[in-house]
Amino acid sequence: MNKYSKELPVMEEFYSLQGEGFHTGEAAYFLRVGGCDVGCSFCDVKESWSAKDHPLVSVDAILERIKNCPAKSVIVTGGEPMLCDMNYLCACLKQQKINCFLETSGSEPFSGEWNWICFSPKKNTQIHSTFYTKANELKMIIEEPNDLLRAEEFALKMHDQCLLYLQPEWSKREVMTPLIIEYILLHPKWKISIQTHKFIHIS
Ligand code: SF4
Repeated sequence: MNKYSKELPVMEEFYSLQGEGFHTGEAAYFLRVGGCDVGCSFCDVKESWSAKDHPLVSVDAILERIKNCPAKSVIVTGGEPMLCDMNYLCACLKQQKINCFLETSGSEPFSGEWNWICFSPKKNTQIHSTFYTKANELKMIIEEPNDLLRAEEFALKMHDQCLLYLQPEWSKREVMTPLIIEYILLHPKWKISIQTHKFIHIS
């Protein structure tokens, strides 16, 4: 496992609106960390997969940019952020009273102290059980009807307060969205998550 602390392999940083899940519509600073070995066929950031393709950037330098951002929330995404040791980044953000939100597949050991964790387990990966107790939201990507069964299997493992989201895989959205709507009407513990940023053409 690649581990970084005061430096992170950064693919991109930008200021935008969160497009999906619980924080949809909220302004946040995005930090996309390089490195992921899950290999989802639908991944829309395949350029992130190789950590060594992305420069190591000092957390202190990232923090300076975050401090100048009007929003006081940072979404750390990837790639798979948990390939890196996030303790230093989270401690710095906490000191600055900036919310830190994590997006993870749960495929790597947990690190950091987060205000919100979006856990989105992917197929054929080992999951670290820490995420079952720590996640604030479970986001299941639905690309075929059988994925709903898999979503229920994960829902059973989550703690009681965890929010449950079904999200149509973007390229299958025309077929999967009506299916998800119908499913949620029958199983209202779930909510739908839509990749709104793709509809409004923002990052
Ligand atoms: Fe892409 Fe995320 Fe899958 Fe990694 S876990 S391959 S970053 S969609």
